[in-house]
Amino acid sequence: MQENIIVVAKQASDQASPSWQQQLSHAIRDPRALCERLGLSHDWLTGAQIGHELFKVCVPEAYLSRIAYADINDPLLRQVIPLGEEAHTPQGYVVDPLKEADHQPAKGLIHKYAGRVLLIASPTCAINCRYCFRRHFPYSDNSPSRAQWQEALDYLRHDITIHEVILSGGDPLAASDRQLAWLVAQLEGIQHLTRLRIHTRLPVVIPDRVDDALLGWLASTRFQKVVVLHINHANEIDQAVIDACARLKQAGVTLLNQSVLLRDVNDDVTTLATLSERLFEAGILPYYLHVLDPVQGAAHFDISDEEARALVAALRNHLPGFLMPRLVREIPGKASKTPL
Ligand code: SF4
Repeated sequence: MQENIIVVAKQASDQASPSWQQQLSHAIRDPRALCERLGLSHDWLTGAQIGHELFKVCVPEAYLSRIAYADINDPLLRQVIPLGEEAHTPQGYVVDPLKEADHQPAKGLIHKYAGRVLLIASPTCAINCRYCFRRHFPYSDNSPSRAQWQEALDYLRHDITIHEVILSGGDPLAASDRQLAWLVAQLEGIQHLTRLRIHTRLPVVIPDRVDDALLGWLASTRFQKVVVLHINHANEIDQAVIDACARLKQAGVTLLNQSVLLRDVNDDVTTLATLSERLFEAGILPYYLHVLDPVQGAAHFDISDEEARALVAALRNHLPGFLMPRLVREIPGKASKTPL
């Protein structure tokens, strides 16, 4: 009898908490379903289908639940809803705005800056952000198998000036913990590597991604660990995100955030100030505020440099220095991000 109660209780708790993988597999991937789930008028559907053909929609329920119902102006919705404007291609908006193809000495490895390299640890994301500078990235050519990672690992072994590895993607945490733990174990064998940085949006999009398996390999690695989250608006930070951040910090992770300055999402002083305050409450330090990379399909998010500078100047009147993100642009070929 006792056993039956335990089994029933376990089934109930399993039903109550789908795993992050289940949440990801149930993400909305159809523009009509997105409009219906959020009570949007069908007037938006034609544009949404045009945008979806260019870059597929993907939004999991944990993120959808933070979006206001029937509000096309919701700042989280603006980040994920495909629009007809994505078909516009103004001059200067290109498929590879950072010219990353010029910096790939091995499959899955991008080496742009001194002392650090970036590995494409996963070709997929848990959410498709409409402004993403990698929305046209050739992931199929950059998804190494274990055997194919050897070329990138050899590159790292031979360059003793590299001390930091950045796991990126896609979203690196969309990969399984088994795959990630294997990759990190290979990196740990290279003595001159000291720091592991993970650029991810998954703890924000599906906070349950920060589970025991992830925390287990993170806590046990010899590397200093930095997780750079990607949060653009304070409404993205709910209690589940705050709890996920607390678990990461307990595993010895330093938490930073980078945002992108986006038209109709976060392009006003109050929104940016609230974001910095809320980040700090969650134990995250604001790090970068990027201007938009000119990627084809995202021009409607752009903000001029003059507007961006004026916003950040005004922001200084609202925040202590340690909560001010650095306003930067990435310029292909430069040795670092360029402050504006
Ligand atoms: S999660 Fe990051 S890599 Fe993925 S679509 Fe969004 S911005 Fe791009």
